[in-house]
Amino acid sequence: METVNILGVHVNKYTMQEAVAKASEMIETDGLSMIFTPNSEIILYASNNPEFTDVINSADMVIPDGIGVVYGAKILKNPIKERVAGYDLVCNLFPIMAEKGQSVYLLGAKPGVAEKAAETLLEKHPGLVIAGTHDGYFKDDEEVIADINKCAPDFLMVCLGFPKQENWIYNNREKLNAKLAIGAGGCLDVFAGTVQRAPEFYCKHGIEWLYRLVKQPSRFVRMLALPKFGLKVLFKGRKYK
Ligand code: UDP
Repeated sequence: METVNILGVHVNKYTMQEAVAKASEMIETDGLSMIFTPNSEIILYASNNPEFTDVINSADMVIPDGIGVVYGAKILKNPIKERVAGYDLVCNLFPIMAEKGQSVYLLGAKPGVAEKAAETLLEKHPGLVIAGTHDGYFKDDEEVIADINKCAPDFLMVCLGFPKQENWIYNNREKLNAKLAIGAGGCLDVFAGTVQRAPEFYCKHGIEWLYRLVKQPSRFVRMLALPKFGLKVLFKGRKYK
C-alpha cells in the first residue's frame, strides 16, 4: 500500500471507502490489527519523539485524521486522496458491523461517558453489540485488559488522548483479545454528546480547527501545533525518507 512519509510518520493513502473496507477485513482476520489516526499535532509530537514514531509506524493502518496532514502531503508533492478522520471511519464501520452482529468495546473518557456513548450507538445501530465499556481514568492496566478479554470484542476503541492511547495499544498488543484496536481520541465524548463535532461546513472546508478553537479556547496552545507542523513540513519535510 502506498504511503507518504510526513516527518517520519508513514501515512497510508487510502480513500475513506478503502480504509473502511480494510478495517472491516481486519475485524475478520485473527490476531490484533491496529489503526492509528494522527493529526498534525500528533505527527509534530512524533517528529520530536522517535520512539513514538516507531509506535505509530507499527500500525496496520495509519490514516490522516486532520486536514493539516492532507496539506502536509501536498507540500511534499505526494498527495493523499482525502482526509480520513478516525471519527468518520468508525461511523462508517458501525453499520457494517451492525449488519454482521459484530461487537465493540468502548474504553476511555470520563466515568459515564463510554456508557452514554454506548446507548447512543445502540439507538443508531440496533444490530451492533456493545461488548463492554470502561472509563479512561484507571490505574490498573491488567484489570482493564482482563475485562476486555472476558468480553473478547471484535473491535476495541481506545480513547485516552494521544500519546497515551497509541502507547497503551502498542504496549498491550500481545495481551489483548480483540481483532482490531483503534486510537480514537475524543470520539466517545462526541458519541455521548459531551463534545460537539464541528458542523459539516467546517469539516468540508478544512476549518474544523477554527470551530474547535472558538468552542474550546483552552485548546489554543495545543493548536499552535498546526502552524508549527506546517513550517516543519515545508522546511524539513523532504529530509525524511
Ligand atoms: N482521556 C482519558 N484518560 C486519560 C486522559 C484523557 O480517558 O488519562 C480522555 C479524555 O477524557 C477525552 C479523550 O481522552 O475523552 C481525549 O480527548 P482529546 O479531545 O484530547 O482527543 P484528541 O484531540 O487527541 O482527539
